[in-house]
Amino acid sequence: MTGFADFNLDPKILSAITRMGYETPTPIQEKAIPVVLAGGDVMGAAQTGTGKTAGFGLPLLARILPKANTSASPARHPVRALILTPTRELADQVSTNLTDYAKDTTLRVGVVYGGVDIRPQSDMLRRGVEVLTATPGRLLDHVQSRNVNLSQVEIVVLDEADRMLDMGFLPDITRILNLLPPTRQSLLFSATFSPEIKKLAKQMLKPNPTLIEVARQNQTSENITQEVYKVADSDKTDVLIDVLKNRGENGNPMTQVIVFVNAKMTCRHLTRTLERVGINADAIHGDKTQEERQLALEGFKSGTIHVLVATDVAARGLDIKELPVVINYDVPFCAEDYVHRIGRTGRAGSHGLAVMLSTQHDTKNIGEIEKLTKQTFDVKPLKPLSRQTRAQMRRQSAPNREEGGDDVSARERARAYVPPSHRYRDPIFETPYRERPPKRQDTDTIRIYEPEKPKVKQVAALLGGLRLPV
Ligand code: AMP
Repeated sequence: MTGFADFNLDPKILSAITRMGYETPTPIQEKAIPVVLAGGDVMGAAQTGTGKTAGFGLPLLARILPKANTSASPARHPVRALILTPTRELADQVSTNLTDYAKDTTLRVGVVYGGVDIRPQSDMLRRGVEVLTATPGRLLDHVQSRNVNLSQVEIVVLDEADRMLDMGFLPDITRILNLLPPTRQSLLFSATFSPEIKKLAKQMLKPNPTLIEVARQNQTSENITQEVYKVADSDKTDVLIDVLKNRGENGNPMTQVIVFVNAKMTCRHLTRTLERVGINADAIHGDKTQEERQLALEGFKSGTIHVLVATDVAARGLDIKELPVVINYDVPFCAEDYVHRIGRTGRAGSHGLAVMLSTQHDTKNIGEIEKLTKQTFDVKPLKPLSRQTRAQMRRQSAPNREEGGDDVSARERARAYVPPSHRYRDPIFETPYRERPPKRQDTDTIRIYEPEKPKVKQVAALLGGLRLPV
């Protein structure tokens, strides 16, 4: 078996690998590192959580390391490696990894993305940075403001390229690629290889790039147990609450779950409903500021938030170590999103559970997912527990847990179903959801609303006529 020592990586990079606790290369690393080190272009189909970042990050650093220097002059620190990602979260995560890998070198690593103050990023770019991770739009803002020059880029990486295309970044990507030297080395990673991705690869990579696939195309990880439950539309929220409250270890509440929904509205409403029934939940979706998203993510990682309700903005790029469960409250409209959503669990060799709730309206989309992932789901019925059953379970579970563990399986509970006499209804459902403000120390600004002064008909006034409110 190949070890990291076999790659001929610089000791300054090997020391970082040891510090990260990586003992053996993952399959993508085993395949990609030698190719990237040798200067080849790569088209990589890697599942989420496969160790892809180190797969390109370690050899990328090794390639530019000979030019590392301690000069204070920005001119000595041009961007030599550029990594483009679709989302801010992924950009942050990739850059954090690269910072860790480059810790023992003098290479400067930085990240730029939208939704946050541009000035600190501009300062960082003007000081010089060799390894830059960026989202396309914000990078172009910096190019336009002449904060950064991309003419010395030696390696460009397109991470999660399929997502970038889904998000409409193709024109931005094309503009960025045109700013790079044609002699550069290019790496393209995508979870799926659609015809559009192949077209982009043709445009971006040199002819005959090395094709690296660590899993069958569009396949979901074997480490993930996938369960699909048939539920009535009206029972969805109750079922979810039951699952969250009773299907954790030994029938306890689940404590680290991402619940995926299709719409921001659902995300907001569901989060509030979960909070109302005593589940520590927070929402993460595209309308939240970067600060709010980070706050939610940190709360989730630290364990104060047990359930993160997310739209697909969070489906990629979140690397939460050993996330045990992902729940698809909504069946995704796009089958490829399913692969990404459930890829949040079962990462780096750990085992994961992906539960999906399917209603009578989802048959077509379920079929699309089955086709894409080349599997047939065993769709089982699941209904919410009655309050009596829940109370009975609590009584049963309290003193004798250690005897036989949780003898009330999910299916038995499902069979014990009585139509719910109580629904978790939000009494202020009709009012719009208000995000919780980010927890900051800032003094509140108080806005004083003054009634608008009536406008006057200027012409009449000028002519000495009557000033009439419009
Ligand atoms: P990625 O697919 O790059 O997002 O990586 C998923 C997770 O696996 C990250 O938390 C990495 O730190 C971790 N990882 C990457 N390579 C290795 C390795 N060789 N051994 C153990 N963990 C790894």
